Amino acid sequence: MATGGAWIFYFADAPTLFMSFLTFQAPAIAYITVGVLTATTFVFAGYMREQVCIYMCPWPRIQAAMLDEESLVVTYNDWRGEPRTRGTKKAAAAGIRGGDCVDCNACVVVCPQGIDIRDGQQLECITCALCIDACDAVMDKLGKPRGLISYATLAEYNENMKLATANNTQPISPALVYGDDGNLSKGVKMFRIRHLFRPRTFVYMGVWSAIGIGLLVALFSRDRLELNVLHDRNPQFVLESDGSIRNGYSVKILNMIPEPRTFLLSIEDLPGATIKAVGLEDQPEAQTLSVPVEPDKLRNLKLFVTVPATAAKAKSHDFRFTVVDKPSGETDSYNATFFAPEPPK
Ligand code: SF4
Ligand code: SF4
Repeated sequence: MATGGAWIFYFADAPTLFMSFLTFQAPAIAYITVGVLTATTFVFAGYMREQVCIYMCPWPRIQAAMLDEESLVVTYNDWRGEPRTRGTKKAAAAGIRGGDCVDCNACVVVCPQGIDIRDGQQLECITCALCIDACDAVMDKLGKPRGLISYATLAEYNENMKLATANNTQPISPALVYGDDGNLSKGVKMFRIRHLFRPRTFVYMGVWSAIGIGLLVALFSRDRLELNVLHDRNPQFVLESDGSIRNGYSVKILNMIPEPRTFLLSIEDLPGATIKAVGLEDQPEAQTLSVPVEPDKLRNLKLFVTVPATAAKAKSHDFRFTVVDKPSGETDSYNATFFAPEPPK
């Protein structure tokens, strides 16, 4: 409901729509939109869950394309976790030096994607780090260093793996990555801040910053006033009883701010012409009309432009409609054509 509500309130005056929605006086499309969005949210979040992340969200694909071997990703450090050992006390008593992973499955249970990060990096991983927290809690209880599952780069991982396998000459041996003091040895590579400052990260930062700046510029420089004009197709012109010529137009004025405004609509480059609009009959036929437009609304006007017979010297005249908001100085214009009968030769 909240998702659907947020959507419709974004496109209309929220307090007014909210009240009319509650009193069942809102337009049918508002109820349909809320119904559809409520249903899809319920199905996606209630039933499909991680399937949405895996099959519908493009982000894992984009993220996977941006990774390199210096990228930090959630990693199971099997160079210290393997071989997994359940019953560490029994194993220690038997003289077996196992890895740090006690196969408790806590990292699998907390994973919202239902994956086992110990199987390696997977497309399904949303990097939520819940498995890191779960495993750290287990390590704390066991008195072992945190970070069996951690953010790590592939480069670090490979170096640590070499250390744990004596340069890939033997199976993983936890003894090789631990010092005599029970802590990880100094040769183990951990996160370094320089990972963040690489040409690639600067390029990505530059690209995303440019996109962000572009969006901000577009947002702050967007039009708040728009004018559209359509000439009547039939009849193209009407001859009045006094010989003057009249053309009809459909004019649309879009007020894109949440405040009422009164625009001045006028015509330019059409000498002697006057305008009149249906619905604004209280204003005399003149070269300029005042057009009130409600907040965030489009006003449709049926408009007539009349030119004295003596001024119509050709079959068509190009001219311009201009709309101005005096207080802000915003303006928009639209090129149009006035049609007249063929002048006598
Ligand atoms: S939470 Fe840690 S110790 Fe437990 S299974 Fe996962 S990796 Fe192993
Ligand atoms: S980071 Fe999150 S999604 Fe990825 S494996 Fe860990 S718990 Fe699962």
